[in-house]
Amino acid sequence: MLTVEVVVVGPLETNCYLVCDGNSCVIIDPGDEAEAILNTLGNRRVLAVVATHLHFDHVGAAKELTDSLGVPFMVHKLDWELRDAFNELAVRWGFARPELPEPVFIDEGSKLPLDLKVMHTPGHTPGSISIVGDNFVITGDTLFAGSVGRTDLPGGDVDRLRDSVCRLYRELPDDFIIYPGHGPYTTVGEEKLNNLVIPMEACLGEGRAQFI
Ligand SMILES: [Zn+2]
Ligand SMILES: [Zn+2]
Repeated sequence: MLTVEVVVVGPLETNCYLVCDGNSCVIIDPGDEAEAILNTLGNRRVLAVVATHLHFDHVGAAKELTDSLGVPFMVHKLDWELRDAFNELAVRWGFARPELPEPVFIDEGSKLPLDLKVMHTPGHTPGSISIVGDNFVITGDTLFAGSVGRTDLPGGDVDRLRDSVCRLYRELPDDFIIYPGHGPYTTVGEEKLNNLVIPMEACLGEGRAQFI
């Protein structure tokens, strides 16, 4: 049974998650405040640092952590290719340009440590991924409680975001917990019904059109 802990970090209040099986952990989205993350970690061992996507508010402490812990940094290649554009965004918004570690690329179907699985869920960024555990999914900025990620930043695509959110609804059980990149957790069933931007109803457009 995996445990999930959240450390809220940085000026954009990013959820950094520690997913652990006993004393072995994976750090997901270390946006900032490496020290706070390490304090929460305590004596447990880290196997990898994973980014749901490469926006600065999700990777600001990645280099510091992978350097000090000696573990790989895992990210989707399509976001790595946009890293300069993403880092420019940080500077334009008045934040520090993140220093990034050398990546190991992961994609749909990649198996992460602790038997976590990768779903490629593009739209917020081309390389956005969701990380699936035994009864939860970590969705980054793809899907939030009541909302979805913005698509007006470099590489964003509203149609692909809708397809990705609909895929999460279709492929994951209703009682799966959604741990998003910002804000409170929710469940797949709750968002299917009550998400204000893309509820399940918005995924049925094609099917409905056939009946008209
Ligand atoms: Zn983002
Ligand atoms: Zn974010």
